[in-house]
Amino acid sequence: MELPSWEDAKLGTMKRAALWLVSVVGEGNVFTKADLRDAFPGTSQIDRRMRDLRDHGWRLDTNREDARLDSHEQRFVTRGAAVWEPGMARVKSAPAISANRRREVISRDGNLCRCCGITPGEEYPDSYEKAQLDIARRTVAQPGGGTAIELVTECKRCRVGGRDLEVDGGKTLASLSRLGVMEKKILASWVAADQRDFGAVELLWAQYRTLPEESRLRFRAALDRATE
Ligand SMILES: [Zn+2]
Repeated sequence: MELPSWEDAKLGTMKRAALWLVSVVGEGNVFTKADLRDAFPGTSQIDRRMRDLRDHGWRLDTNREDARLDSHEQRFVTRGAAVWEPGMARVKSAPAISANRRREVISRDGNLCRCCGITPGEEYPDSYEKAQLDIARRTVAQPGGGTAIELVTECKRCRVGGRDLEVDGGKTLASLSRLGVMEKKILASWVAADQRDFGAVELLWAQYRTLPEESRLRFRAALDRATE
């Protein structure tokens, strides 16, 4: 699809700035405040409109992010949403999670993936891949109705759904011999049904484990009250 012209005065300033970056500056290249003023003479708040692009996933580095740059320079690192397309300028990407907030969430989550329980650097049981933790935004239905976005720690594999999953059938088979007779019988019934019957407590435990921190605390308080 052909890009609209950045000089099209009918487009808003932010859209024109985005098109100017793509068609004049080019990804990876540096531009100066003077370049920007020359391209948009007399346009008030051009700097601010340019910064607004960051809310749409555009990465523009200043000398705060990239020490090689001068104070009057910026680098157009990567483009984000095609804001000039109909409807796109209204969709803002979620604000980035700060490094401090990430550390806080991971630490409160016990430094483990809340889905599978793996810790950073630990190998997955089915491969030699080492786990890396990440933060996910979980939509949590609230007790009073409505939903809220809560942050929760997940490993990269749980986030992407095991895309790089590699399995080891031999290892699985070898592990079978380590089970006792009772365990083997239970496993055989699950295998026959191709389904594991979770007890109510186990089911609740699994659900509790995947809750983000705010919801875990709420659950825990309710449990404490119920067991007093
Ligand atoms: Zn995981």
